[in-house]
Amino acid sequence: MKLERGTVLVIATHNPGKVREIGDLLAPFGIETRSAGELGLAEPEETGGTFAENAILKARAAAEASGLAALSDDSGLCVDALGGAPGIYSARWAGPQKDFGAAMERVRQELGPKRKADHSAKFVCVLALATPQGNVETFEGEVRGHLTFPPRGNKGFGYDPIFVPEGFTQTFGEIEPAEKHAMSHRARAFEKFIAATGLSK
Ligand code: IMP
Repeated sequence: MKLERGTVLVIATHNPGKVREIGDLLAPFGIETRSAGELGLAEPEETGGTFAENAILKARAAAEASGLAALSDDSGLCVDALGGAPGIYSARWAGPQKDFGAAMERVRQELGPKRKADHSAKFVCVLALATPQGNVETFEGEVRGHLTFPPRGNKGFGYDPIFVPEGFTQTFGEIEPAEKHAMSHRARAFEKFIAATGLSK
């Protein structure tokens, strides 16, 4: 799906961490962004069983409600020794208070003694781009790494303080945001999205 410079795109999320990261990633391409929160759009219930299904339902809802093209992000942390959990439930593990300290502690507890043997994990991101006419496309990216406890760093959001990407010693919470944006799951999905839209810097 092609996009022109100057297009106004709704960022179909109420997560301020994602709004900031996607806004940073889009800024060089001449795309104007509005967040779903800013436009007062309702937050649809995430009833899908996969990242892609949830991304599509969020992008479609925002495009229909706003009459603008919408880009959504469904993402999460998948821990190998937990069979891929929390996965699509990553945000829900933080509860209504969005307490990621508690969510990271739940990961640590569920891993229990397995933490020593296998602490491999990945972040996954699926972006969905929807038009008000009902067209939709998805783009997926992932980054592998391992978990570390206790959490370290406050530069990111969500589970960043316990995730060390492959080839690094610092967590996503300690790495400079510009460096995270160059190699994260979101950045990788984003590269595919940019290639499909034909946008350039
Ligand atoms: P959802 O896509 O809105 O269901 O929420 C995804 C959740 O996954 C976020 O609330 C975060 O907890 C987690 N997550 C996704 N991407 C990242 C990331 O880049 N860093 C840390 N946590 C993330």
